[in-house]
Amino acid sequence: MRRCRWCRIVLAPGRSGRRQGPGRPREFCSQRCRQWDWVSRQRARELALSDGELVMARGELDSLHDDLYVLSCAVADAQRDLEDEMTLDECLRSLRWLLEAAEPLTVRRLGTPA
Ligand SMILES: [Zn+2]
Repeated sequence: MRRCRWCRIVLAPGRSGRRQGPGRPREFCSQRCRQWDWVSRQRARELALSDGELVMARGELDSLHDDLYVLSCAVADAQRDLEDEMTLDECLRSLRWLLEAAEPLTVRRLGTPA
């Protein structure tokens, strides 16, 4: 399963089409991601970072940690809920809370400000 080199979204199978030429597998989901990847590599070169290192805005990292924390709380709650006998209403409430906590992470794209 191939993923966008920048945002890690899963790429549709198949070739990239005419822009990248035949036979070359697609690496990015969009021109925007291709551009961010290029900019990031340029900055990394300027700062003499290795290929595995990345500079990221503190605010973006904090926000990601916040979302992950909320998700971990929701998972813990759901696990606790599952240990008890639940009514359908309680089950739905638990599922809604879990989805609400997970949703921000499904639309998050790191390093690609709107
Ligand atoms: Zn992408």
